[in-house]
Amino acid sequence: MSRAGFERLLAATGALVRALPQLRDFAPWPADPPFADRPPQAIPAIAPIETLDAATTARTAPLAAAVAAVARDAHWEQTYSEAEVGRDFLDRYGWFELLGPGGHFRTGALRAYIAFWGAHLHYPPHLHEAEELYCVLAGEAVFHAAGMPSARLGPEALRLHRASQPHAMDTGAAPILTLVLWRGAGLEGIPRMAPP
Ligand code: ZN
Repeated sequence: MSRAGFERLLAATGALVRALPQLRDFAPWPADPPFADRPPQAIPAIAPIETLDAATTARTAPLAAAVAAVARDAHWEQTYSEAEVGRDFLDRYGWFELLGPGGHFRTGALRAYIAFWGAHLHYPPHLHEAEELYCVLAGEAVFHAAGMPSARLGPEALRLHRASQPHAMDTGAAPILTLVLWRGAGLEGIPRMAPP
């Protein structure tokens, strides 16, 4: 039932990756990754993702729409505990692995996540070994990273995080929907909060 929706999402993601050189060059995008039938796993933020009304571009709008269409079928996850980020954060945040070692489509070449945060959330400093490239699909946020100036980034903007570089994010009046690519060592790891 949901496979066609995920196929459309993968195609929209591949089209965006091919359109933006920094995404295209980040990691090899597999031609025909096998579909894995993962069970839906809900988060509280599904309704706001389905009805998301935030700024997009002509290139990112099809992807945001394809995410909304599979929001009830996706295997959503949350990395952090309530003790780490609070209940409000968990009520308005989530991500799923579209493509990767454990994703809706399988590859060992990279991981591609879809991730969402509601308005007025603070994502505390965290880090992971894998290198990471964010692409904003809809909405905006201020991105912070150790050793780099903070930047307010909107649709189609990109942000690279090096291996184990602490980074953080703040949303303002708008939520944010993102495509996040991982590559390299630590591909199957997870983020952890940066030490204070
Ligand atoms: Zn990260």
